[in-house]
Amino acid sequence: MKFIFSFILSFIFLTSTYAESPSSSKGIIATSNPHASRAAKDIIDRGGNAIDASVAVQLVLTLTEPQATGIGGGAFMLYWDESKSKLYSVDGREKAPSKVNENLFLDSDGNKKKFYPDAVVGSQSVGVPGIIKLLEETHKKFGKLPWEELFEYAINLAENGFPVSPALNSILGYLKPLKKIEPAASYYFVENSEGLKKPVPVGHILKNIEYSKTLKRLSKYGSYDFYEGETSKLIIDALNNNNKESKMSFEDLRNYQIVWREPLCRKYRSYNVCAMGPPSSGGLTMLMMLKIFENFDIRSMDPNSVEMIHLFSEVNRIAYADRAYYMGDSDFIDVPVEGLLNESYLSEREKLITLNRYSKTINHGNPPGAEEFEKNIDISKPSTSHFVIVDKEGNAVSMTSTVEGPFGSHLMAGGFILNNELTDFSMMPELNGKKIANRVEPNKRPMSSMTPTIIFKDNNLFALTGSPGGTSIINYVTKSVLGLIDWNLDPSQIVNLPHYMNRGSYTELEKNTSLENLKAGLELLGHPVKIQNKRSGLHIALKKYDGYVGGADPRKEGLVIPIN
Ligand code: GLU
Repeated sequence: MKFIFSFILSFIFLTSTYAESPSSSKGIIATSNPHASRAAKDIIDRGGNAIDASVAVQLVLTLTEPQATGIGGGAFMLYWDESKSKLYSVDGREKAPSKVNENLFLDSDGNKKKFYPDAVVGSQSVGVPGIIKLLEETHKKFGKLPWEELFEYAINLAENGFPVSPALNSILGYLKPLKKIEPAASYYFVENSEGLKKPVPVGHILKNIEYSKTLKRLSKYGSYDFYEGETSKLIIDALNNNNKESKMSFEDLRNYQIVWREPLCRKYRSYNVCAMGPPSSGGLTMLMMLKIFENFDIRSMDPNSVEMIHLFSEVNRIAYADRAYYMGDSDFIDVPVEGLLNESYLSEREKLITLNRYSKTINHGNPPGAEEFEKNIDISKPSTSHFVIVDKEGNAVSMTSTVEGPFGSHLMAGGFILNNELTDFSMMPELNGKKIANRVEPNKRPMSSMTPTIIFKDNNLFALTGSPGGTSIINYVTKSVLGLIDWNLDPSQIVNLPHYMNRGSYTELEKNTSLENLKAGLELLGHPVKIQNKRSGLHIALKKYDGYVGGADPRKEGLVIPIN
């Protein structure tokens, strides 16, 4: 009897300890690439902090995940400074050159150019890159280790090579124009015995000597080299040595500045959810949705049920309709942030939801204080990378960075890819005589969907999340917040949830998942359903009662490393 009693007691103890404490790590790293996660760990082991580690991660990702991100692109960073209990949001988004005009993506007849390859490939789509300035300025303010030391890992990897991953190899197979554009063509493709160009094979050790030279200069001269020195010359040369007209000048590079913006935060239940404000549409659209979800008993709903998918889809449609009309770069247009998050406005919008029936049309609303705009058509293609780092002191980084589409503009300078971020602008400047908020303008930042997020409970760090995925990002991240707060799931469970959403035209269910079985049920409610691949890359950290746990999206090639 005594034995049985103690067995039951120890069983209860063991199971409850395990359930609440799968890890006791003091910090956590989760990135989309094992080399990048290891580079971060190396920096932490040398006594560096989350900001130092972020620099090392981004420099490695530029080399190993060039299809998604790199120093030739832009980023948003949320940084939590534990000792000061202060949150920062940093805008390192690319800017349009000062000489562009709103017809950048129109042909001589005033029609939209074909998105890919015409608008995307070549110099015209390249925005002034922001990542190096972002890394340098955040490092100057918060970093611990010397700047040069943060480059060692990436320099070694660029000089000695890294094995080509399946993701890198497979995306090369899809991009026919890249095969014809030097130097990318010679670097990312090899000739087979029949003289045909094939993507570098999986496992091939790929070196990048040009990039190692760039890294050495940047480590020595800092952002000066990128924006005014040798690297700036390589960038301008690459842009001019191309059949598309380049509008970017040395002056555009020299004038580039990051912006320290107020983080955009709202309460969701008893948590404070903080994200990036405009020029990202991500934080604002997500918070609009969360404020509506707050009025529903999400906790009681099965994440993979017709009921939940229906509600998620209706709420998505409401928020995305407003996103298309009112969002863009707030330095150029009035984004009605307060109006869109206004409680009575949102409760009016919520009335559009029909439970148990797909609402026929959901149009944009008229939030208080909004200027009138026309609808933005957003066709960005998914690439991008998101990582989270919490260091031993409790400082935390949630950063999403991008070159926009796969391999950006397909141009390379100094061994790295140049972005195609300008195609995140609306191609048409106006419609029906009304301006589009996200139209091209000189020195403007294109609207983004990137949604790096940090969640607090009683002003203490609770969780970090974010994802790549083009305009789907906002829905991936919003559902991860529901997972963390309402469904009480661990990051590893959240990243494995199948995806669903509705960005305005139809309900998307992730291909090859159990959701395919729900198609008929949703169609009965009137949903137009498409089964699709969904390319998220959620990287999430969660503080449990005695340490951090992390999750890396199985759709990417990421790695979680605990910090002890
Ligand atoms: N350029 C896109 C944005 O800033 C991200 C693209 C992607 O995630 O693939 O919203």
